[in-house]
Amino acid sequence: MSPTPRSNFLRTQIQADLDTGQTIKVVTRFPPEPNGYLHIGHAKSISVNFGLAEQFAGDCYLRFDDTNPEKESQEFIHSIQEDVRWLGYRWSGEVRYASSYFQQFYEWAIYLIDQQLAYVCDLSADEAREYRGSLTEPGRNSPSRDRSTEENRDLFERMRAGEFAEGARVLRAKIDMASPNINLRDPILYRIRRAHHHQTGDAWPIYPTYDFAHGQEDAIEGVTHSICTLEFEDHRPLYEWFINHLPVPHKPRQIEFARLNTSYTLTSKRLLKQLVDTGVVAGWDDPRMPTIAGLRRRGYPPQALRHFCEEVGTSRSDSTVDVAMLESAVRHQLNSEAPRAMCVLRPLKVIISNYQGEEHLWLPCHPNEPAMGMRSVPFSNTLYIDADDFREQANKKYKRLVIGKRVRLRGAYVIEAERCEVDPEGHIIAVHARLIDGTLGEDPADGFKPKGVIHWVSAATATSATIRLYDRLFTTPNPAQDDDVLTHVNPRSLEIIDDALIEPSLTSAMPEAVYQFEREGYFVADRYDFKEAAPVFNMTIGLRDTWGGDNA
Ligand code: ATP
Ligand code: MG
Repeated sequence: MSPTPRSNFLRTQIQADLDTGQTIKVVTRFPPEPNGYLHIGHAKSISVNFGLAEQFAGDCYLRFDDTNPEKESQEFIHSIQEDVRWLGYRWSGEVRYASSYFQQFYEWAIYLIDQQLAYVCDLSADEAREYRGSLTEPGRNSPSRDRSTEENRDLFERMRAGEFAEGARVLRAKIDMASPNINLRDPILYRIRRAHHHQTGDAWPIYPTYDFAHGQEDAIEGVTHSICTLEFEDHRPLYEWFINHLPVPHKPRQIEFARLNTSYTLTSKRLLKQLVDTGVVAGWDDPRMPTIAGLRRRGYPPQALRHFCEEVGTSRSDSTVDVAMLESAVRHQLNSEAPRAMCVLRPLKVIISNYQGEEHLWLPCHPNEPAMGMRSVPFSNTLYIDADDFREQANKKYKRLVIGKRVRLRGAYVIEAERCEVDPEGHIIAVHARLIDGTLGEDPADGFKPKGVIHWVSAATATSATIRLYDRLFTTPNPAQDDDVLTHVNPRSLEIIDDALIEPSLTSAMPEAVYQFEREGYFVADRYDFKEAAPVFNMTIGLRDTWGGDNA
């Protein structure tokens, strides 16, 4: 179920349009360019667009804005669809592609030529830049601006036929070279590009610009509210100019909102691609990546992402959200849904002197959800506990196992440490302990209650597992502030433990299932690498925020 919608300016605007009858049925779209994997910022855009369609019983389309073939690929098209579905949204009808409207865009370009509203320009890129002027100076008309309609048509048709070299000519709208809005100074509609396109192959040697394509895509699809981020605000007059000067079947409206930025995170496909290309991470879906595929592989539940996107709100002012807020949404979700289990990350052997044989203890899969059932956990006289949970001596604050002191083994007995074995280098290699009789689910009869509870596994039935521990990928809250984001990469963002020990119930984990490893945190069975005989878990998140600074 989606979180309850809170009021925001988009919802208010759409409700007003429905009330006045200007909108009959709400149609939105999510329009990614397939030039990378989607990130957490896109999750926000997805939740805004699909969420509005859901709230107002309208349609939301998934449309690939594929006008830039060199940087796009089928891999990205595939991953984007998977991400949207995984977040729990369903687009209306078929997936749409801007490229399937190329013929229509071409005809509309000819229409503008015929209306004397577009011309073929011969300026080189450098000259065009010079003619464009600046924020303080008006631009100058291109010498090509007054070409006859016949000549423009002839040249544009020859551009389309592939007669000219890349960069030799462009098609431009004839608007106003003196406009204070640079986007209106005769913007480019078409460029010559000898690029193979993943959908249209070699059919087109010219490609429309984003500005010439986007609004017309919305118009063709009957989009009522074209929602985008604030950087397109200055493009809105151009968006409207096209809609008003072309014989479009429908007039969509562009509305902008502020991008979502989160601390310690990159939300730019270009910069994320750099991390992939330089091998800083293992791929776009590396669990350290803020991509939707990475967060998925990390074990973040889709409901937590949706919840976070709703919580951060939708506004028109740019800000950066503390990533701790996302992490807290993840913890909240997992605390209620993740089954509990035991995993010992750094095993230390414990030998119990006064216990023989083996028994099966039944432990609840979740302390507050009896419906999740019970699991069988074998117990014997040779166990493993975490090396951090034993000290030869310690002060009162240390509530774990200490020689001469007691601790409760989670879901099992109370034990008391008697002595430990140390190797020639001084490392503790085993602890000898005795079990206090009658302490299964009961306090010790002699009144000496243990202070702490520790997790454990039984040696004979534990399975060795690989555990990937993650830390933040960046050491600074705003890694993108610098030209070189690579200097902010945390060199210790990944630690691999390959001899952890897990209890038997974990070997049958389903890929992508998330567990709470008692006292350690949340861990997900890796969707690709987990095998029953060789389990691999990725750390999703710790049990509490250990990044003090953020929440303090
Ligand atoms: P990037 O800068 O990462 O390449 P983009 O805006 O170029 O992102 P698109 O594929 O064009 O990526 O984006 C698809 C949609 O997602 C657009 O409507 C865009 O406005 C929106 N979007 C992208 N980043 C964010 C963000 N950080 N917050 C909210 N919406 C975003
Ligand atoms: Mg873009």
